[in-house]
Amino acid sequence: MNTDPGARGVAVITGGSRGIGSATAVAAAHAGWSVLLTYQHDEHAAVKVVETIQNAGNHASYIRADMAKDQDLAAMFEAADELGTVTAFIANAGVAASQSRVDELTPSRIAEILAVNVAGPILACGQAVRRMSTLHGGVGGGIVLVSSAASRLGAPGEYVDYAASKGAIDTLGIGLAREVANEGIRVNVVRPGIIDTEMHSRNGRPDRAEKMAHTIPMQRAGQPEEVAASIIWLLSNEASYCTGGILDIAGGR
Ligand code: NAP
Repeated sequence: MNTDPGARGVAVITGGSRGIGSATAVAAAHAGWSVLLTYQHDEHAAVKVVETIQNAGNHASYIRADMAKDQDLAAMFEAADELGTVTAFIANAGVAASQSRVDELTPSRIAEILAVNVAGPILACGQAVRRMSTLHGGVGGGIVLVSSAASRLGAPGEYVDYAASKGAIDTLGIGLAREVANEGIRVNVVRPGIIDTEMHSRNGRPDRAEKMAHTIPMQRAGQPEEVAASIIWLLSNEASYCTGGILDIAGGR
């Protein structure tokens, strides 16, 4: 139970308006962070998450930020600075696209997926490190990158481009963790399996979580809150010796 809202500093959560990001925003606020969450298109959804957090007596605000725009990422961290000391960054926002084979992919689709899922998180991690690192006078902190089980399964016939972008996130986590391990920052990756969010309907497959359940050893899709709980644990002192880790949250898939 959080008795001191905001006592842990500020947590920046990209794509915190829906799905895994909104569940993580609620859990982070409950655990004592002041939350700055971002959205890209749906401001109403962001407002609803912020109101949920504030109604529970915790701190949250939101800003629009496109992961594909460096200036938006800078503005996002400047807004976070106004709330307090940034001690947590969760690179959650990510996009896939409609089910396609590699021989059907277009350059514009690939460019968007790489901009949002890879370049944005790398640049945003740079912003986070400049604030958290003891090398830069910071007090340290935690970074969690949201990858996908697709990075090890490859998503053949669905979205290999998306899977490849998440492979890059796994590697970012390993490299960045080692780069800043002695600067007070722990970096870890979570790899969700099939999670019941709007992402599937936005990719043209609203029944994907239900239809794929039989392929999952636990025979069900995961819930956003189950991923959020792992993210909060990785950010917490309970995980104080865990960095460069990749945690599968995929029901055994
Ligand atoms: P979601 O329900 O589709 O939510 C995506 C979030 O990202 C929304 O808040 C959305 O905001 C934001 N967003 C979209 N495009 C953006 C952009 N260009 N810049 C900044 N924000 C943007 O997704 P989710 O299922 O929660 O997925 C969250 C993360 O988990 C993603 O990285 C995804 O790849 C990963 N993941 C999901 C699953 C799954 O089965 N759901 C499995 C493995 C990994 P707006 O609504 O305003 O656009």
